[in-house]
Parts: sequence; C-alpha cells; structure tokens
Amino acid sequence: MTVSTDFALPPVTLRIGSEARSTGSGTHTHINPATGEAQAQVPLAGAADVDDAVNAAHAAFALWRATPAGTRAKALLKLAQLVEDHTEDFVNLAIADNGIARSNAYPTVNAAVEWIRYYGGWADKLPLGRITSVAGAGGSFGHTLRQPYGVIGAIITWNAPLMSLAMKVPAALAAGNTVVVKPSELTPFTAMLFADLVTEAGIPEGVFNVVPGGAEAGAALVEHKLVKKVTFTGGPDTARKITAACAQTFKPVVLELGGKSANLVFADADLEAAAMHSTFMAFGIMSGQACALPTRLLVQDSIYDSFVATIGAIAASFKTGNPQELDTICGPVINQAAIDRIHSMVTQAQEDGARLVTGGQRLAEDLADGFFYPPTVLADVDPASELAQKEVFGPVLAITRFSDEAEAIALANSTDYGLSGYVWTGDARRAVRVTEALETGEVTINGAPSAVAERPFGGIGHSGTGNEGGLEGLEEFFWTKSVAYGNG
Ligand code: NAD
Repeated sequence: MTVSTDFALPPVTLRIGSEARSTGSGTHTHINPATGEAQAQVPLAGAADVDDAVNAAHAAFALWRATPAGTRAKALLKLAQLVEDHTEDFVNLAIADNGIARSNAYPTVNAAVEWIRYYGGWADKLPLGRITSVAGAGGSFGHTLRQPYGVIGAIITWNAPLMSLAMKVPAALAAGNTVVVKPSELTPFTAMLFADLVTEAGIPEGVFNVVPGGAEAGAALVEHKLVKKVTFTGGPDTARKITAACAQTFKPVVLELGGKSANLVFADADLEAAAMHSTFMAFGIMSGQACALPTRLLVQDSIYDSFVATIGAIAASFKTGNPQELDTICGPVINQAAIDRIHSMVTQAQEDGARLVTGGQRLAEDLADGFFYPPTVLADVDPASELAQKEVFGPVLAITRFSDEAEAIALANSTDYGLSGYVWTGDARRAVRVTEALETGEVTINGAPSAVAERPFGGIGHSGTGNEGGLEGLEEFFWTKSVAYGNG
C-alpha cells in the first residue's frame, strides 16, 4: 500500500539543554507501520547522553523553580496554544510515528491541548501548603510547604506519544520541576516538535530535555542520582525493573501500566448507545492499543445473543486500512511483534473455547506489507482463560456473559489489573453500587469519557500506582515539608 503524504518527517535529535545532538550510542531503523518500510534512522541516546541531559535539567532547576508562578503559567498556556496551532503537524507526526488513523489523531491532539492548558491553569494557583497548627498556649505555628523535587525522569511508551507528554510534562513543570523525557525509540517524531514548541513558548533551555532511546537510556535515567522522581508509562515487565532500580535509593515512582478493563452492560441500559460506544472504544482508539480501553465486555444473559451479534456487525463495518484516509477507523498495529502476539492470543482463545464472531486473521492483499489486524470479536470467552486475564494491546474484544449484578462484579474484579471500569445501566442505584464495588482507579458510566485532564487517572494492582490528571496528578510532583516555629 502506498501511504502518500507530502509531510516531511523532522530529523530526530537528542535535545539536551540548548543542544540538538544527532548521534547517540546507536541507531534504530524506524519502520512505517502502514507500509512496513524503513522511513528513518533514529539516534538512540546512551548513558552518557542521559547523564548530560540530567545535568542540563539539574542546572536549570534553580532558575525554573524561582521563576514567578505567573510566568510559568503564561509559558505553559502559550505551549498549549502552540500545540493547538500545530494540530495538523501533530496529526501527521502521529501517523508517521505509529500509524494511528487520522480520524483518531485529531481528537488525541485536542485532548493533549486540554491537558497542557489544564496544568498551565494550575501553575499560578498551586496549593503550596496548609496551616497545620497555630501558636496557642504552649503551641507553635506550623505549616506545610510543597516543594518541587528537582529533575523528573519521564519514560513513555509508543502508543500515544503526545498524550503521554501532555499527561506528564505540564504538571511536572507547573510544580517547578525540570524534566528529562525518554520517548520510545518506536515513536520518536512527536517529541521533536513538542520540544521545539516548549522553546518557542519561552520555557528556558534545560528545563525540558528529550533523549529518544531504548532500554539503555531508560535504565540510565532511572538510576541517575540527580533524578529525584520517575514517572513511567509502559508495560509491567519494564515497570518491575524500574521499581527494582528505584528501590536502591528509595526513589519515588509513578507507574501507569496496562489494563484488561471490564465493560458491564446490563439489560436495562440504552443498548444502542452501549453497543456503539463499546465497539468504538475497543477498536477505534489506536486500533485497540491503549491502556484504559474496555477490552472485556460482560453482557447480561437476557440480551447476550443479540448484543454479541450487534457488536460483531458494528466491528465488521469498521474500515481498517490506510491511516491517512479520514474514513479509516483502525490503522495498523505497531509492528510485526504486535501482529504475532495478537494472533497468537486470538488462536489460543479459540483453543480455550471462545467463539470467533469476526476478524481473526491478519489482513492481506494491498494491506499485506503493513501491520494490519482487523477488529476481532470473540464471544463465550472463559473468564479464566488467557484472553480474559491478559492484556492483548490490539484490536481484540473478549465477550463473556453474566446472569446478575453480583456475578458481573465478581467477573469484572477477577483479573490482576485495576485501571478502568465501564458500566452501562439505566438504574442509577445500580450504577452507584457497581461503581463502589469495582476495583479500579477509574469508573465511567453510560459513555462518559475516560482519562480527561481534570480527573485523576491511574490504576491499582498490576495497572500501576499513582495518578496523572486532576489535582492528584499535580501533587505527584511535590514533596511535602512540615514547618513549625518555636518561641526561641
Ligand atoms: P515497555 O514497557 O516495553 O516500554 C515502555 C518504555 O520503557 C519505552 O520507552 C522503553 O524504551 C522503556 N524501557 C524499556 N526497558 C527499560 C528499562 N529497563 N528501564 C527503563 N526504561 C525502559 O512498553 P510496552 O509494553 O511496549 O507498552 C505498552 C504498555 O504500556 C501496555 O501495557 C499499555 O497498557 C501500557 N500503557 C499504559 C498507559 C497508562 O497511562 N496507564 C498508557 C499507555 C500505555
């Protein structure tokens, strides 16, 4: 397939202070997921580059921390505006980075703008502390001070580079920290334009640094003595390594990991809305490659057969193909390894007794060179099977039936993950009961959006620890000092 675009990819460099370094400790050949063709050689930061970037961020900390809050706010709000002004460029970069469908890339850029603007708004309204005691008879006046950590090490994955930057960087900068970001080597382009705009917004050199790279750069960042806190988005195996490395110096870490989020559809729900939302969310957001998606659909007995048929029909109608075309809903998945993992899980699910409703084979003919897997629906999925228990990170929806509310809750809570929960019901009291019972960091009811800037987002269990979003996401970037004044 030819994916024609007149958009020129930016050269990837390591952004360290005011320097744009074009070599690192190695290179990565970037493959366009829609065509399977090599489209760029990307430098990979090594430990020495990371050391330079952390030192640049450390040197910039005193100035940035002392910068008046109003100035920080103005710069972040300008950054939000600049990102919005470059929407078309970010859409093109997203398509080049990981093949996200154009129709999906626009709302993603809009969401990123909202996140940057939200934290820009906080920068001069920071909750800097509270009075803890007053000087009465024999007492002392006391208060807390919220302090920025210094250098934050941010490690992000490949599925939504701009969103990941927007969820981490503005909050860290608003709180007065400086940042070194390590994007995935699989998606290095977006961070280049973001770094240019950070500079254009008037944020001083060294406050924001980018070291594209792989595991070597990530490990060097985590282990660096001058990195005072780590914020990570990615998979559980890497998270274990990062947590173990942080444990050596008791470095705090935020972990935003994966999920197998349940979507509970009760017979009393608005079934038309539930079917469209459930199907679009499973496949139409980054071809199923996003952490919080409702990938486990639990459907009440009395509507099960007809609801499964509707889901299958909607999924089969979604166009998978050229991400540049506006009517494409599912672009490619990230690479051959993803195709292999997805197909192996779909095959295993059928061996475990699941019924294939639609999809289930890599797309061929004019899509054969890219990494295209169609929306795949599996019904009658055994709740104990691999497909019900493990994240696929691809366009695969697992459907299981339940008889009553208690069974639905038990099934929803039966995995190691705890990221998002989705509930569809027309009964407000049921919505409250189920919400309280779900063991997840987030619950959305009847189609409310997930992962919006003003609400905290984060998981429990194998989905991670800590928050992005809301005041909670800002608080991750402060440590608390307790202060008291005696009479001496
Ligand atoms: P991954 O864990 O393989 O990689 C993530 C990042 O970690 C990359 O930048 C990678 O280079 C880096 N890395 C690899 N080894 C490292 C090491 N030893 N030390 C430090 N850094 C290292 O990520 P993946 O599995 O490809 O990403 C997909 C996962 O990310 C899925 O599980 C998905 O659910 C999760 N995710 C979570 C969120 C969220 O906000 N909760 C958002 C998007 C994706």
